[in-house]
Amino acid sequence: MELNFPQINFIYSKIFDESFRKIFDEYKTNHADYYKGFYPSFIKIRQSIEELEKEWQRVSEKIFTSYKNLTGFEINQEKFDCYVVGRNPIFRGISEPLTIVISENSTGRAYSREELAIILAHEIFHKLISSTNDSLWKFFQQEFEKENEIVCRHIPVLALEKEIALNLYGEKFINKFITTYISKGYRRAWEIVNQTGPEIILRRIRTEISKSELF
Ligand SMILES: [Zn+2]
Repeated sequence: MELNFPQINFIYSKIFDESFRKIFDEYKTNHADYYKGFYPSFIKIRQSIEELEKEWQRVSEKIFTSYKNLTGFEINQEKFDCYVVGRNPIFRGISEPLTIVISENSTGRAYSREELAIILAHEIFHKLISSTNDSLWKFFQQEFEKENEIVCRHIPVLALEKEIALNLYGEKFINKFITTYISKGYRRAWEIVNQTGPEIILRRIRTEISKSELF
């Protein structure tokens, strides 16, 4: 069977995970009242990888198809390597190298398989958008000139995230998930996406940006 969407190769790297553990432990030592609980065990990380793999198999085709339909962009990548680690004091994912964190930074709560799938989709959207053309965030930077780069880069990503999560997991899920974004830049980007409406942002990408000379 020919698959026309990228495959994800989930990787556990002991060295990588140990580095994350060290970073987390150091933060916890300095901010004991903010970071609850501990860095997850290797067994817990393996379990989360298995759950994420299963969920990703179930929803990935829908996610990539929606990405193409909602943005009008093609997907040229065949495969992504994705590292999975335990916990980080600041972020829940990185786009380069593609990395997913399995538990919430302050509370230590393990993310559900649905949340992990959306966290992964978020990082993949960053990769796909920047590989298509980096002018997209510049467009949003012009549109929202008072906002910083983090906010502008997240407007298209969060618009996609909202539409797709809504479709896969429903309104209750996404409304609750949005509250787990606590840093200022993300909250501002969510505010813009919710006020403008994700469908309006995505329509602008399709009708104005996909056709423009920037791409
Ligand atoms: Zn992001």
